[in-house]
Amino acid sequence: MQTPPEEMKPHVAFLPSPGMGHVIPLFQLAKRLVFDHAFQVSFFLITTHSSAAQDQFTRAAAQLSPHLRIICLPEADVSAIISQDMRILTQICVITTESIKPLKPMLIDLNPTPVALIIDIFTTDVISICEELSIPVYSFFTASTPLLALSLYLPTLDLEVEGEFVDLPVPVEIPGCKNMRTEDLVDQVKDRKNDEYKWYLFNVSRLQYAAGILVNTWENLDVQRITALKQNSFFRSIPTPPVFPIGPLIKEEETLTEKDAEILAWLDNQPCESVLFVALGSGGTLSSKQLVELAWGLEMSQQRFLLVVRKPSDASASGTYFTVGSDEDDPSAYLPDGFLEKTSGVGVVVPSWAPQLPILRHGSTGGFLSHCGWNSALESLVQGVPMIAWPMYAEQRMNATMLVEEIGVAVKAAAEIGEVVVGRKEIETVVREVMEGEKGKMLRRRAAELKRSANEALESGGSSDRSLSLLVDIWKSNLKI
Ligand code: UDP
Repeated sequence: MQTPPEEMKPHVAFLPSPGMGHVIPLFQLAKRLVFDHAFQVSFFLITTHSSAAQDQFTRAAAQLSPHLRIICLPEADVSAIISQDMRILTQICVITTESIKPLKPMLIDLNPTPVALIIDIFTTDVISICEELSIPVYSFFTASTPLLALSLYLPTLDLEVEGEFVDLPVPVEIPGCKNMRTEDLVDQVKDRKNDEYKWYLFNVSRLQYAAGILVNTWENLDVQRITALKQNSFFRSIPTPPVFPIGPLIKEEETLTEKDAEILAWLDNQPCESVLFVALGSGGTLSSKQLVELAWGLEMSQQRFLLVVRKPSDASASGTYFTVGSDEDDPSAYLPDGFLEKTSGVGVVVPSWAPQLPILRHGSTGGFLSHCGWNSALESLVQGVPMIAWPMYAEQRMNATMLVEEIGVAVKAAAEIGEVVVGRKEIETVVREVMEGEKGKMLRRRAAELKRSANEALESGGSSDRSLSLLVDIWKSNLKI
């Protein structure tokens, strides 16, 4: 194929919310547009203090192609308006609002004018700027379909229900979708008086102004909700913009550090599907008590493991959201005494951050104990790895329910009634169940089916490929020179 001259390449801009879970899928889409569809891309990044993981990502991303420009927005000084006791979403939204102040002239300066700006759930502030500039805005919803359905329904629920949603005596009925247990609701809607709820409602209320909603999933993974979002009379009446399931878009490769290479070399020497990978996303931080139980549960299971650990925090389950990869303490300072010695040779402990995708892709990995962030879930599904669901915050509980009860690719490690901490015995039981039990074999078969289904969706002519081609055609037909 002949490459069109630079000025003829359609131009798409991106603006993800802060956090690797948002940046990564939007960047995958950007790469597809550049490498498979001859677009040029300007990828705006909101800079947050000291995220080593994001810094490493930015350096690698900037090298990929001259048609994929990474533009870091100047770091906003939010020191006077943000306090550490603010909830995570409030922090994200305040940082976003402040960071995009210089964006309008930057968008005006882009040449040629973008045919679309792709945002995600918490960067909707930019919609009004784009209206003035006549740039169509598309929202790439990087989370799961249960959260998308709830989010589109939320403005209605907000009008209909007085008091807290979590106090409702019955599950939430979302039109055309499975009911949602109140305990599975996303954290941000569990306290309506908190600013976090107001920010969440503000952002999801604006989804309807997008020209389209792209979703990181594929049709066959959730036929019921995707059909409801497209066809149910309630969703049509909102109105819901056209929905495009274009996933699963996950990271394809990673720049490996020396330390990463050592981890993979260790995996090379382990038997096939024998290692449980334990990682809780970019923010997941356990309490000290929970970390001790997890460590002993792993030891008691006598299974091989690769454990990503962070300094425990009794204050917040999402403690490292903005700083992940920067904190490389010595794990022996907070793991139980004797744990490292006892498990030496059977398990490897990695502080803070590990190369998740190559680990999941490795033949020695046989299970994934995950916080069920949507990117992690997709990465596991694409590699055909069964999961132990360990939801912690945000929408992870509804994802876990979907993975366990609807998709059938995970089991859940549960605390006893009335307890917050999952005990070591329960952990030992589920780990054995997944790694060596009959249940594990069943989950592995289901995971293999889903891996095939995900690949089919992405192949040429598959459902996600067709959705993306449709968008590409729309954007190419908007080409402004
Ligand atoms: N990740 C990683 N190494 C880690 C932890 C996380 O590479 O030690 C990556 C993971 O592969 C995924 C992303 O970080 O792409 C986490 O996104 P997810 O949506 O699962 O969770 P979040 O971090 O948003 O809670």
